[in-house]
Amino acid sequence: MAEQTTGAPIEPWLREILRCPACRSGLADADGAAGPELHCTNADCGLQYRIDDGVPVLLVDEARKPA
Ligand SMILES: [Zn+2]
Repeated sequence: MAEQTTGAPIEPWLREILRCPACRSGLADADGAAGPELHCTNADCGLQYRIDDGVPVLLVDEARKPA
């Protein structure tokens, strides 16, 4: 099994198909206080999802809202 060390927190193909469960917008890689995160690209939504062991937690209840 090849190990990728590109620095991407999740696989690019996976991020491509992931959508914000709240608004269906795309997600972008971001750096959070506790590690890599995925942030909704919709400025009106902007929810921030954490990534646990490479698995994005795309739950609205678990997401952080922007300040
Ligand atoms: Zn959203």
